[in-house]
Amino acid sequence: MIHVSCILYQLTMSLYKGHLAGGIFVFILYVLALVIFFSFKPNMNLLIWFGLCMLGALWPDVDTNSLGQKLFYGIFLVLDSFFLFTGLYKEAALLGFFALLPIVGKHRGWTHTIWAAFLIPSPMLLLPIFKPELNAGELEYYIPVVIGYLSHLILDWELKLY
Ligand SMILES: [Zn+2]
Repeated sequence: MIHVSCILYQLTMSLYKGHLAGGIFVFILYVLALVIFFSFKPNMNLLIWFGLCMLGALWPDVDTNSLGQKLFYGIFLVLDSFFLFTGLYKEAALLGFFALLPIVGKHRGWTHTIWAAFLIPSPMLLLPIFKPELNAGELEYYIPVVIGYLSHLILDWELKLY
């Protein structure tokens, strides 16, 4: 007889080694906490927060062959091509440099550290300065990435998922 818990386990594992499932779990907790303690009324922004949380949950494995790596390097490639074709060579060079960083060093290296969880999403804190039209607070986009990121680290520590 197949146990329900076994099926559930298979299911969460297939969700990219459980990291998307972990991200969804902390995201639900986060929104519930906002509703209960801050009388937050869910709105369309939740979709953006959710996307950011998923990106945070996938980012640490950018240092190894994973869905996260394919996704982020796909984004890097599109952005870099855009910079090159529009003559933004300085931007293209900078992006190329930063895109190299995750793949030097071993798997579960710096991308799997607490300081990276807070530092990597930090450009989000500057968003209101460069994109005031978004009308978003500094923490609005930062926190979802950080909690997604931390969920990845916790899962790796506990279960050594990937
Ligand atoms: Zn990992």
